[in-house]
Parts: sequence; structure tokens; C-alpha cells
Amino acid sequence: MEKKITGHTRLVGLFAEPIRHSVSPMIQNAAFEELGIDAVYLAFELGTDRLPQAIESIRNLEMLGANLSMPNKMAAVPLMDDLSEAAKLVGAINTIVNQNGHLTGHITDGTGFMRSLKDQGVEIINGKMTIIGAGGAATAIIVQAALDGVKEIAVYNRKDEFYERVKEKLAYVAANTQCSITLHDLGDEELLSEDVKNSQLLINATGVGMKPDVEATPIQDFSIIRPDLAVFDVIYTPRETRFLREAKARGAKTANGLGMLLYQGAAAFELWTGKEMPINKVKPIIENS
Ligand code: NAD
Repeated sequence: MEKKITGHTRLVGLFAEPIRHSVSPMIQNAAFEELGIDAVYLAFELGTDRLPQAIESIRNLEMLGANLSMPNKMAAVPLMDDLSEAAKLVGAINTIVNQNGHLTGHITDGTGFMRSLKDQGVEIINGKMTIIGAGGAATAIIVQAALDGVKEIAVYNRKDEFYERVKEKLAYVAANTQCSITLHDLGDEELLSEDVKNSQLLINATGVGMKPDVEATPIQDFSIIRPDLAVFDVIYTPRETRFLREAKARGAKTANGLGMLLYQGAAAFELWTGKEMPINKVKPIIENS
């Protein structure tokens, strides 16, 4: 059925810079169309300088809400009327829901990742996971995993200028959940091996291995991978990083970041519309993007 824009059509915006490459408008508009929801999703290329006005427009234009990506995810936090529990802990948002001018900020990256685990049949609740990286994607995953009931998370990051700040942040997340979270230097291979041995899941949440540097890997010793370990990467270009290739060669169950991308969008769609995203309709759009 061809989409008709009417006097009733509502708007959802995507505020980020750069943004023209994004697959989100294709996904969200296909889902609106499939379910006959009278709404459109449009990308607006803007950074933090115009973010306050853009967010005020959500109220003024009675938009359903918005998605945010870099560089706006943290800058939008103080502009919200309310924050979800996860957004408070992460300190960043990627989704805004407008209810009669009252704006609530959510972060759906973590729920997206947790749903992608479920999709692949990986059971981690009450278990232990090891995650490499402590940036935006990693923090969203760590917070949601902790809120969902993962008991123990070992975080490995390079010892850069952010290391001490990351330590404080993770202590704050641990203090506000039932999860034990530790931070270690990624250079400590012995400790990493020990943590992976006791984990059901290993995640790369850094950009290491992304195009164009596709031969780079976040770990060097792949003998720590075993067949009953699930190994996930947040990267989706390339579809199979060298990290995943090496893990698969050792018999591990592997998955790339496409599931996280798909389900963070699905969670946002569900927040705006109250309806489940038609996954079968949008999955091929993501896979072929
Ligand atoms: P970020 O800059 O916030 O964090 C990057 C992290 O990687 C930091 O912990 C940093 O210390 C670490 N890192 C960077 N270079 C490293 C190196 N050479 N060795 C070891 N560690 C290194 O970035 P981000 O927003 O968290 O994004 C990280 C990756 O996640 C990117 O590849 C991004 O495309 C991907 N991502 C995927 C999704 C998805 O839906 N699948 C969502 C968000 C981000």
C-alpha cells in the first residue's frame, strides 16, 4: 500500500551529525507503513549547537519523539523532563518520547543488545560476562545487563586518560544494581583469560576491527575461546570481524552488531507507538544496508 501523508501525519526526528548514511529512516518508515501508522521518520543533520531548539520543536510541533545519535546523546540528558532508569545510569539517551509536551529520555542500545542475545538463544541472566571496551556502546550494554539480572560483569579497557573516570562510572552502576562489576586493564592478558574462563559470554564493544582496519582484533590470544562460549561483536561493518572469525574457528557461537542495531530501533518504535515492530519486514532492510 502506498503511504499517504495527511493532515494528521505525525513526525519522528533523528537528530545527529553526520547522519545521511543512517539506515534508521528506512527501517522506521517501513515499520510505520507495514502497521498503517500515520507517521513519518526524518533525519535532521544537527549537532549540539542546535540541539536545544530541535528538542523544543518536539514539543512545539507535537512530534511523537525523536532518536539521537552522536554527538547529541549526552548533551540531550539535561534537556529532558524525565529519564528512564537505564538512561539515568548510562548518562546518555538515544530516544525521546513526547507525551503532551512531557519529554522522557530513554537509551535503547542496551535493550537492543540484550534482545539480540535472546534472539541467538544465549542465556546470560544470573551468569557472568566479559566485555571489552567501556565507551558509549559498552556502557549501555553493561547497564542493561546489570538491570536485567546478569550477576557479574568483567570490563576490560585500555589504560587511557578516561580509565579512572570509567572506574567511577562503573562503581556507580554497580552500587545502583545487584551486579558485581570490575574494571581491568586490557593489557592484563592473564586476568582476562581467567575472567573469560568463568564467563558464558565475551563481547567486543570497541571499534577495533571495523572497516578499514579489518585485521585488527581487541584480543591477541584466541586460545581463551572455547566452544561453549558465546562471542558477540557490536561491529556490523564488516559483518564478520576477524575477532568473530577467530572465535568461530574455535567453535564458539558468534554474532555481529546487526541484532543490536535492529532491536534498539525496535525498542524505540515500541516506545513511540506502543506496537511491536514488524521484525520480519525490517530485518532484510538492515541486512542489505
Ligand atoms: P566510544 O568512542 O564511546 O568507545 C570506544 C571504546 O573502544 C572505548 O572503550 C575505547 O577505550 C575503546 N578503544 C578504542 N580504540 C581502541 C584500541 N585501539 N584498543 C583497545 N580499545 C580501544 O565508541 P562507541 O560509541 O562505544 O562505539 C564503539 C563501537 O560500537 C563502534 O564500532 C560503533 O560502530 C559500535 N556501535 C554499534 C552499535 C550497534 O547498534 N550495533 C551501537 C553503537 C555503537
